[in-house]
Amino acid sequence: MKPALLLVDVQNDYLARPGLHPGADLLIAGIAALLGAFRGASLPVIHVRTMIAEDGRDSMPHWQRQGTRQCVRGTPGSLPPQSLAAVDGEAIVEKRYFSGFESGRLDTLLHSLGADMLVVAGLYTHGCIRATVTDAYQRGYAIIVAADCIASPDPHHALISRQWLEQRAARFLANDAILAAVGLAQPAANAGCDELIPAGHAAGKWMNAPELPLWNHFDPCSSDRILARIPLADSSLIDKAIAGAQVAGRAWSAAPAAERASLLEAWAQVVEHNREAWAGMVARQLGKPITDAREEMDRAIAHVRVAAQLVDSLEESHGEGLLTRHCARGVVAVITPWNNPVALPLAKIASALVFGNSVVWKPALPAPEVARAIVASVAAAGIPPALLSTVFGDAGTAQALMAHPGIAAVTLTGSQRAGSDAALLCARRGTPLQAELGGNNAAIVMADADLDAAARALAMSAFGFAGQRCTATRRVIVEESVRGRFTEILLSEIAKLRVGDPLEPATRVGPLVSAARRKEVMAAVARALVIDGGRLLSGGAVPREFEQGSWYLPTLVDGLEPEAALVQQETFGPVAVIQAAKDFADAIRLCNGVGQGLVASFFSSDAGRQRQFLASAEAGILRLNPSVFPVAADAPFGGWKSSGMGPPEHGRWDREFFAQPQAIYGELP
Ligand code: NAD
Repeated sequence: MKPALLLVDVQNDYLARPGLHPGADLLIAGIAALLGAFRGASLPVIHVRTMIAEDGRDSMPHWQRQGTRQCVRGTPGSLPPQSLAAVDGEAIVEKRYFSGFESGRLDTLLHSLGADMLVVAGLYTHGCIRATVTDAYQRGYAIIVAADCIASPDPHHALISRQWLEQRAARFLANDAILAAVGLAQPAANAGCDELIPAGHAAGKWMNAPELPLWNHFDPCSSDRILARIPLADSSLIDKAIAGAQVAGRAWSAAPAAERASLLEAWAQVVEHNREAWAGMVARQLGKPITDAREEMDRAIAHVRVAAQLVDSLEESHGEGLLTRHCARGVVAVITPWNNPVALPLAKIASALVFGNSVVWKPALPAPEVARAIVASVAAAGIPPALLSTVFGDAGTAQALMAHPGIAAVTLTGSQRAGSDAALLCARRGTPLQAELGGNNAAIVMADADLDAAARALAMSAFGFAGQRCTATRRVIVEESVRGRFTEILLSEIAKLRVGDPLEPATRVGPLVSAARRKEVMAAVARALVIDGGRLLSGGAVPREFEQGSWYLPTLVDGLEPEAALVQQETFGPVAVIQAAKDFADAIRLCNGVGQGLVASFFSSDAGRQRQFLASAEAGILRLNPSVFPVAADAPFGGWKSSGMGPPEHGRWDREFFAQPQAIYGELP
């Protein structure tokens, strides 16, 4: 098939619409990457643009009624950003309404180019992308929509449009998978890597699907080396995975709770036995420092053990004639991020299983070997393997899974974007959702704090594991009177952090998970320094000795206004900002002045101030003078504000989500 890239309405007026999701910076970067690859391979690129006369007489009737004057010929708003401008030889097709096929010119052009496969990118997903894709489908083209390169100011409408199109007309793929699908994937050092992962696991068996699009997992320590090629499961595999889990779940929910608990204890033992091997795998595949990977393994084992004990509280007699109990929900969809590839899935899966549910798990794409080892360990513990179905895939796979009528509840950990899409999909079917989402955590350092201890703790919390923890400190708020002294101590603690090989026990800062992730982090820092007036205090660069991987030095920025993007948004990299506060009230205002609310920490020796902090900080997890930042397996873990939805995770709080209460009146048979 011959592909052509169609850029629809990539014009400044559309990019400037408030509420564009994802934001223009991210969108432009994604489209630029795709455009570069198509141009590099001399494949056709066509720019489809809305173009309106100056007096607006030919604009759509509703624009005329609303007085909208956008994309007017000859104005800067009608043009694309400079980096996405058309070059010689690239056609520009004009339109006035939604579809690029409106005039017939696009169809003629594509025929003359011999193109029969369209890669569609641009704006807006729910409007012109949808209309153009629908018309292309009707004309017989094969269509891929570039999932990283579309946006809309109406994200809910966009999500529904995506589902509608995916079920009919187009595949939605990330840039990597598109380049592989059209034969433009970057040559890897080990291009012959044939480590093809099965697409999923259902009814106790792995399912292969070599025809599916693939996603390449590159080595974080050597960015041109592929570690695995992972298929993106589609709806037919999801159907099989859910059907397998449904059948297995029936017998499981009817089994005595104590039997389920003892099988979970056996699972904890299998995981414990694999502690060192799995920690090594996590370090090698994800670049997680081995010390952190071992800590994650310990947390994972504790989660399974705590879950096994939850069965003690399933039934309660309330005297004669009344019993309350907690029952299984059915098949639970478990969707997990890449950064805690063992502890997060095990915590969710163990809690789901102990209450009698079965599971369909969609792990994050990186490190599929870890997911396969987890699936194998379930069977090794004697738990019926069909209880844990697994599908590998991307956001599209996760969305298809969540929207499936066979799913009784969804538990997801990930970014805010994933959470808001999940909320919409679950709301449509009334599916219970538990979502643990991104943090943007503040630590307040008052003048009376032990500054040395605070700096030591915060350097690790902000930059350990390259800041790739939801609980990482991203905003250090320091009382003005000690700002200079504290900053100096903090910089000296940052300088002590060992940056290096994740397999070295002394390493504190390994690489970011991928080169693409590092690019996003670097773009966020560049914006803070160039546009928002921030000042770089440390880092901001790739360490020379590790150029082959995706390392980035611990980066501290000051001088930003509270509204700056680096202050307001989670960077999920080794980046923190330092902010000065006039007094305690100002510090609390800065601490609470973001949309997220996962963790807040307070450093002060004044007990009264500590109480005031506990009374006013808006976060699900509070810490007083912490020297380390542990997560207990039996304490509630849940973000406030946009950092979480539904009941928190872990320990007895999991019962609120993974089981449904029931009241039984009458004499029991
Ligand atoms: P991510 O949101 O990209 O992916 C997480 C999971 O959700 C993956 O399985 C992914 O395929 C899926 N997903 C991604 N986009 C989706 C969408 N639009 N719709 C449906 N599913 C989608 O996150 P990541 O990069 O894997 O992990 C980092 C993020 O996770 C950070 O924001 C971090 O703060 C957050 N996180 C939160 C916690 C917590 O407990 N609060 C713990 C770890 C990580």
